[in-house]
Amino acid sequence: MSDERSAQRPSSGPRKKRPFQRRKVCRFCADKQVGIDYKDPRTLRYFITERGKIVPRRISGNCSKHQREITEAIKRARNIALLPIAGSHVLP
Ligand SMILES: [Zn+2]
Repeated sequence: MSDERSAQRPSSGPRKKRPFQRRKVCRFCADKQVGIDYKDPRTLRYFITERGKIVPRRISGNCSKHQREITEAIKRARNIALLPIAGSHVLP
Protein backbone atom coordinates (compact mmCIF):
# COMPACT_ATOMS: atom_id res chain seq x y z
CA MET A 1 0.00 0.00 0.00
CA SER A 2 1.25 3.42 -0.90
CA ASP A 3 0.07 6.57 0.77
CA GLU A 4 0.98 9.45 -1.49
CA ARG A 5 -2.29 11.13 -2.24
CA SER A 6 -1.19 14.42 -0.68
CA ALA A 7 1.76 14.83 -2.98
CA GLN A 8 -0.08 16.89 -5.53
CA ARG A 9 0.27 20.61 -5.21
CA PRO A 10 -0.24 23.41 -7.72
CA SER A 11 3.12 24.82 -8.60
CA SER A 12 2.39 28.51 -8.61
CA GLY A 13 5.80 29.54 -7.48
CA PRO A 14 7.46 29.82 -4.11
CA ARG A 15 5.57 31.25 -1.20
CA LYS A 16 6.40 34.81 -0.37
CA LYS A 17 7.03 35.81 3.16
CA ARG A 18 4.69 38.27 4.74
CA PRO A 19 5.87 41.85 4.66
CA PHE A 20 4.86 42.45 8.26
CA GLN A 21 6.82 41.00 11.07
CA ARG A 22 4.77 39.68 13.88
CA ARG A 23 5.14 41.66 17.05
CA LYS A 24 5.30 39.88 20.34
CA VAL A 25 2.88 42.04 22.25
CA CYS A 26 1.08 45.21 21.55
CA ARG A 27 3.03 48.31 22.38
CA PHE A 28 0.55 49.47 24.97
CA CYS A 29 0.77 46.22 26.86
CA ALA A 30 4.53 46.29 26.59
CA ASP A 31 4.82 49.84 27.86
CA LYS A 32 2.19 50.67 30.41
CA GLN A 33 3.31 54.23 30.51
CA VAL A 34 2.15 54.85 27.01
CA GLY A 35 -1.38 56.02 27.37
CA ILE A 36 -4.07 56.10 24.76
CA ASP A 37 -5.31 59.62 24.60
CA TYR A 38 -7.63 61.05 22.02
CA LYS A 39 -5.99 64.40 22.58
CA ASP A 40 -2.68 63.02 21.40
CA PRO A 41 -2.89 62.73 17.63
CA ARG A 42 0.77 61.90 17.28
CA THR A 43 0.25 58.59 18.99
CA LEU A 44 -2.99 57.94 17.20
CA ARG A 45 -1.58 58.70 13.79
CA TYR A 46 0.63 55.71 14.16
CA PHE A 47 -2.50 53.61 13.97
CA ILE A 48 -4.14 55.20 11.00
CA THR A 49 -3.13 54.97 7.41
CA GLU A 50 -2.11 58.03 5.50
CA ARG A 51 -5.60 58.11 4.13
CA GLY A 52 -7.03 58.34 7.60
CA LYS A 53 -8.24 54.80 7.99
CA ILE A 54 -7.72 52.82 11.12
CA VAL A 55 -5.01 50.21 10.78
CA PRO A 56 -6.37 46.71 11.41
CA ARG A 57 -5.18 44.83 14.41
CA ARG A 58 -3.22 42.17 12.59
CA ILE A 59 -1.06 44.85 11.08
CA SER A 60 -0.72 47.19 14.01
CA GLY A 61 -0.01 44.31 16.36
CA ASN A 62 -2.24 45.55 19.12
CA CYS A 63 -4.18 43.31 21.38
CA SER A 64 -7.92 43.45 21.03
CA LYS A 65 -8.37 45.42 24.20
CA HIS A 66 -6.03 48.17 23.22
CA GLN A 67 -7.17 48.12 19.64
CA ARG A 68 -10.62 48.92 20.91
CA GLU A 69 -9.29 51.82 22.91
CA ILE A 70 -7.36 53.05 19.93
CA THR A 71 -10.47 52.88 17.81
CA GLU A 72 -12.46 54.83 20.35
CA ALA A 73 -9.72 57.40 20.70
CA ILE A 74 -9.44 57.85 16.95
CA LYS A 75 -13.17 58.31 16.64
CA ARG A 76 -13.13 60.93 19.35
CA ALA A 77 -10.17 62.65 17.79
CA ARG A 78 -12.01 62.74 14.50
CA ASN A 79 -14.97 64.37 16.15
CA ILE A 80 -12.89 67.23 17.39
CA ALA A 81 -10.99 67.38 14.12
CA LEU A 82 -7.63 66.25 15.40
CA LEU A 83 -7.56 63.50 12.82
CA PRO A 84 -8.91 63.35 9.29
CA ILE A 85 -12.06 61.40 8.68
CA ALA A 86 -11.42 60.67 5.04
CA GLY A 87 -8.39 60.93 2.85
CA SER A 88 -9.45 64.07 1.07
CA HIS A 89 -7.22 66.33 3.11
CA VAL A 90 -4.04 64.41 3.58
CA LEU A 91 -1.49 66.19 5.62
CA PRO A 92 2.13 65.97 4.48
ZN1 LIG B 1 -2.50 45.57 24.70
